[in-house]
Amino acid sequence: MIHILDSHSANQIAAGEVVERPASVVKELVENALDAGAKHIDITIEGNGVPLIRVRDDGCGIAIADLPLAVIRHATSKINQIDDLDHLQTLGFRGEALPSIASVSHLEISSRPADEVAGLCLKLIGGEQGEFSEVGCPVGTSVTVRNLFFNTPARLKFLKSIPTEFGLISDTIGRIALAHPDVSFSLTHPQQVVLQTSGRGDLRETIGAILGHAIARQLIPITAQQGAWRIEGFISPPDLVRSSKQTQTFMINGRIVRSTFLSHALEEGYHTLIPTKLHPVVVLHLHVPPSEYDVNVHPTKMDVRFKSEQTLAVFITQAVFQTQINSKPLPSFTTQISTTHETRSQYTLKAGKHLRELEASIMTNIPEKSHLRPEVVDQQKLFLRAQEQTRILDNTVSDVPSPKSCNESSSHMEDTLANIWPLAQLFTTYILATDGEVLLMIDQHAAHERINYERLLAQFRQDEYSSQTLLVPLPIEFTLQEEQVVLENLWNLNEMGFILEQFGARTYLLRGVPVTTGTMQPDRLLRQFIEEVLQKNSVPTIEKLLEEWIYLLACKESIKAQDALSLLEMEQLIALLSKTNNPYTCPHGRPTMVKMTRSELEKRFYRT
Ligand code: ADP
Ligand code: MG
Repeated sequence: MIHILDSHSANQIAAGEVVERPASVVKELVENALDAGAKHIDITIEGNGVPLIRVRDDGCGIAIADLPLAVIRHATSKINQIDDLDHLQTLGFRGEALPSIASVSHLEISSRPADEVAGLCLKLIGGEQGEFSEVGCPVGTSVTVRNLFFNTPARLKFLKSIPTEFGLISDTIGRIALAHPDVSFSLTHPQQVVLQTSGRGDLRETIGAILGHAIARQLIPITAQQGAWRIEGFISPPDLVRSSKQTQTFMINGRIVRSTFLSHALEEGYHTLIPTKLHPVVVLHLHVPPSEYDVNVHPTKMDVRFKSEQTLAVFITQAVFQTQINSKPLPSFTTQISTTHETRSQYTLKAGKHLRELEASIMTNIPEKSHLRPEVVDQQKLFLRAQEQTRILDNTVSDVPSPKSCNESSSHMEDTLANIWPLAQLFTTYILATDGEVLLMIDQHAAHERINYERLLAQFRQDEYSSQTLLVPLPIEFTLQEEQVVLENLWNLNEMGFILEQFGARTYLLRGVPVTTGTMQPDRLLRQFIEEVLQKNSVPTIEKLLEEWIYLLACKESIKAQDALSLLEMEQLIALLSKTNNPYTCPHGRPTMVKMTRSELEKRFYRT
């Protein structure tokens, strides 16, 4: 027999989705306070939240006549019809939270709107036996939840320890606070204020209160706009990473969301800058018209779907990438050059001078046609520039600079890393260097890989994948599987500059190779390329192939760990590194250097 569930059962079932654990109750109550326009929200928790959750706000309050309605299912003051979701300004709209919470707890709501002299209090047990009374209270609303899940023992059993549940609560509040720097939040656990934000509207300050001041100081501000879409917030420099995504907060129009889509677009922006498996720290706020996404995917309203996902993803990725490029991740490197280290500065000077002369011609050399992603193309100018500087520096190595050249303008000294000089090589693998302030330990192979990667990429772009014909064609014999892969990618390989001609059964003649290949054995390289890249990727794009090819070349051409370097060579390496766009990571995203500051050192010696 089919029958309609009584409202109590319906609420309890809804509670199963909306109120999963104490942290979800806190989320719903705090969101109601925000919807009510509160500027101060104080949260008190006892134990794991089951004994007591109280959320007090100074918002608009609930009108006396409305209070009984607030705890009725599907009763909301926020929308009238489904179309209203397209201009939704509030966090709530389903009218489910209060009745759901009421049905599984002892609930007490006291509220006073500004135009009333006294407040009204409503007490419920399991959503029933409503009892009203007049109370004296300040303007605003206070919701107290006691004995959560008292009538649903299964839920209660499923809860974790006090630290875990309380941790989830403070995490929830922390994230919401990040989305609302203009609201002051406080979280109190017996006698102790665990979290407190000022509500002054300063996001970096709020991040400091939630994630810690050390992180807040290092983060880079990001802002970007595209049509009606806007990104705001902070992202970490490539050397500030975490092994989990816990420290990533995504917000859309003031709402905390979880989204693998957003997280993916973000991490794409860090491509090659951060090792895989590590994650940047971010607080990203996305402002988009409500009609462009749907939050009504799940009762908790934390999942979102976007209408134009792909375009949005590209926008986010580019904004993040561009912000990285524009920022100077290690600020201490940009301080003025020390006058005690003149040799290094002469190289910079010389490069600077030649650069100005060359700039015009370089800039006009950029090929029009492009198979690369737009952001790579955007970077092209920078790469070309780095490449030209590299060449000039290459030339200056043999000619020992005369002291006179020091008298030239000193305005070119501000280059990143420009004031770093090498001290020694360690384990024939690392370069110890300093700018007089910090000690740097540079991984010589990683550093050289970064240099070569950017140089080769620029060269590749400039030559527009042209091919150099081999004087003597090289026969290559493939396995059946390799041949298959080669044939599938023949067009792309051709585009890159490989000219292969069928010669016999599974035997090909390699007649041409990309110009960037240099003097290395091209047949071996191609074979390795096929093994490492082509066989692993099902249908790689030309960009992907190009990138992988350049990785491979960059790695091959780079000095290895165990290569002994003279001071002059180290100096040259640092100089070249300083001209790259991303001196702090190798193309695979591993760091090229780690630093130790004077104060870190002093701490070790207990001098502070
Ligand atoms: P929703 O937020 O989806 O509208 P809720 O069940 O969370 O549904 O709340 C029901 C209604 O109660 C809200 O629409 C709002 O009018 C009122 N309300 C709840 N909490 C508060 C509060 N802290 N201040 C003012 N009004 C509130
Ligand atoms: Mg609500």
